[in-house]
Amino acid sequence: MKRRLLNPGPVTLSDRVRDALATGPDLCHREDRYAKLEAGVRHRLTEVYGLADSYSTTLITGSGTAAVESMVTSLVPTDGNPVVAVNGVYGARIVAMFEAAGLKHRRVESGWLEPIDFPAVAGALAEAPASHVVAVHHETTTGRLNDISQLAQVASGTPLLLDAVSSFGGEEIDFQRWNIEAAAATANKCLHGIPGLGFVVAAEASLSSRRGPVRSVYLDLYRNHEAQVAGSPQFTPAVQTLVALEAALDEFIEGGGWEGRRGRYRRLNGVFRKALAELGAPPLLPDGDASAVLSAYSLPEGLSFETLFSRLEAAGFVIYPGQRELYQTIFRIAVMGDITDQDAQEFIAEFADAVR
Ligand SMILES: *Cc1c(COP(=O)(O)O)cnc(C)c1O
Repeated sequence: MKRRLLNPGPVTLSDRVRDALATGPDLCHREDRYAKLEAGVRHRLTEVYGLADSYSTTLITGSGTAAVESMVTSLVPTDGNPVVAVNGVYGARIVAMFEAAGLKHRRVESGWLEPIDFPAVAGALAEAPASHVVAVHHETTTGRLNDISQLAQVASGTPLLLDAVSSFGGEEIDFQRWNIEAAAATANKCLHGIPGLGFVVAAEASLSSRRGPVRSVYLDLYRNHEAQVAGSPQFTPAVQTLVALEAALDEFIEGGGWEGRRGRYRRLNGVFRKALAELGAPPLLPDGDASAVLSAYSLPEGLSFETLFSRLEAAGFVIYPGQRELYQTIFRIAVMGDITDQDAQEFIAEFADAVR
């Protein structure tokens, strides 16, 4: 039976991506052929938002978290004192990264069901300057698409570092207007590749001179970038993941890039939101606050996540629980990956049965 992953990554693979994985060449990462593949994919990732003029992409072998940690622990100077906006698990994880690195920072937290506390960010910046404002674009905890345009206004000139792991390729990210110095993402969410490869899209200007000491042998962004520009990655990269990502990017471009993908997600997500609301599982956030990529839903009365999960899993659908205090009350459905309208209709029929 076909399994359809409705969790926020890894995603259900298309046949084309799976075939690329199975039939791609065995490559050594010190061959020219590999160097060409890597340079091509890096360029195409930079071009997802048309940034090749002034930004550059660095691959980080690891999950999305590795890319975020590489970005924030490399680009923030020792006396940077960044302001971190937190309204979910992933914002809290960035705070944990600064703590682990022993980097002074300020945490501006709002409730997990609330938007970023913009006045508090402004207040923190007024109290003392910061090298960066750091935030999560799509807070996957609740499915909220944080308003980065408003954050940029509040930051008024202080550059942003963005965890765009669950939005890159599926939502608008206006790097230049929002003054984004760097954003981190992964192959296996909105780009529909396989896990194992994160990346950081950063302004060339900020990559050209190091701001702080080397804080990690493996994750140092400058060293990784320099090695990749020179055509020879620092360490063994996830070669097969890169081959699969190349195929996924072909598919991405043919589907109309991020705008095409966002359109597809919006449509599918809308189908789930409407149907589930009618079946006693209303979306947690109103349409205007929710991302196109994922929605959180209240668990129907009297139905635990475990019961719902196993019922749907038996029919080939994998749903995703709430995290921490939301575990008892919500579940989540992401529409990224090779999910069709027919999959959505089948899911809704199974869900209706489960609720009955
Ligand atoms: C998935 C995700 C991550 C990274 O998770 P990994 O398991 O390390 O890939 C980071 N931030 C957000 C917002 C995410 O959705």
